[in-house]
Amino acid sequence: MCFLFSSNVFAYSECNDSSTLHVPCSYNGIDYNIGYADGYGDMYYMRSAYTHFRDGNSVNYYVDSVTLPFGQGYSVITEPNGQNYVDRGLAFWTGHGFQYYTGGGGFNYIYEPRANYFAYSPLDPPPQLTVSPDPVAGGGVASSDQVIECGYNSNNYCQADFPLNSEVELTAYPNTGYAFAYWLDGTTQYTDNPHTFTMDAEKEVEAVFSPTFAFPLQINNYTPYTAPVSSVFDHSGSADYSDSDHQIVDFAGETSNQTYYSGSTCYEKNDSSAFGSGFNYTGTSGTGGIYYLCYNGHPGTDYPVANNTPVYAAADGIAHMPSSFPGYANAQNYNTIEIDHENGYKTYYLHLYSQNVTEDQQVYKGQTIIGYSGDVGATGSYHLHFEVQKNTPNGWVPVDPYGWTGSGTDPYTRATNITLWE
Ligand SMILES: [Zn+2]
Repeated sequence: MCFLFSSNVFAYSECNDSSTLHVPCSYNGIDYNIGYADGYGDMYYMRSAYTHFRDGNSVNYYVDSVTLPFGQGYSVITEPNGQNYVDRGLAFWTGHGFQYYTGGGGFNYIYEPRANYFAYSPLDPPPQLTVSPDPVAGGGVASSDQVIECGYNSNNYCQADFPLNSEVELTAYPNTGYAFAYWLDGTTQYTDNPHTFTMDAEKEVEAVFSPTFAFPLQINNYTPYTAPVSSVFDHSGSADYSDSDHQIVDFAGETSNQTYYSGSTCYEKNDSSAFGSGFNYTGTSGTGGIYYLCYNGHPGTDYPVANNTPVYAAADGIAHMPSSFPGYANAQNYNTIEIDHENGYKTYYLHLYSQNVTEDQQVYKGQTIIGYSGDVGATGSYHLHFEVQKNTPNGWVPVDPYGWTGSGTDPYTRATNITLWE
């Protein structure tokens, strides 16, 4: 199918109007359009049979057939009976009109000396790739052939035309403090980096980076995987603290769905085995220990630590002491600190014994002690509730900084869970 080009300098009503241009709508399976300006404002034209070109020295060239082996950014149009120019060809650069190949190296532009010039293009315009690094997290993106290079070195140009069906390889480079998360290619996520794809259409691709959070409890050489955990982020939670699905799933895919006792929100596995694959699960005191996961829909991770343990900012950001935040109508009841990392993520620290920041204070990853752990709002249960929320099209929703390491698909549907720990 050929669609017609029109502009303020010319317009054609038919693709194969022999009185003007005889344009093949399709040749070798490739669709053509007429009319494409080169980078210099000129336009070029040819006819499909007995195409007549005239170069800048008024020399005529004749072509009665074309072959178009699209390759590295240009196509060669052969000139099989081109009078004195049998061995010569015509080259077409995508987006740059026709050129005449001299045979000795180099290209001369060919044009037909008339008021308006026309040319074919396999796509008009050629498929364009628009790339953006994470608009908040930044980072850089480069293609292997350096056609695209943006987001760093002060080069923010992130659009380029590519030949139809060419292969493009993009590599994402996160800024310090971020990790590559995934490519958003249209609406599909790809976790490969570099990301290779075919330019069979116009595309918009975004490199998404995630913050690398420092563990907020700098005691006993704790890491996210060695620190005691008394309650996990529930990947089966469709709503915070909802008890509707009678099931809790941790980031490793361990699932509990056997009710501990009537009315409880603690559940054990079908085989009654202990939890803790990949992390130090201790269970919640008085609710069955390591054999039970508790708090259906729990939107954070609970770390049992002694009262008055220093709590550090997980990443740079601005500290707040909110009266409410998504999922919590009365955040002050839990002595909550919120840190807005200004990159689409916020972290929350609950049950603090004391707060050690002022409203809107700039805090620094792993350096600023934002407060001291306690049991406010959880009397007698000293622990830090650490929660991460992500800005999504559906608003701010909790995500699990442990990502998802279970087999199969993450049952959590409110956002994509990726590992956020450094
Ligand atoms: Zn909690």
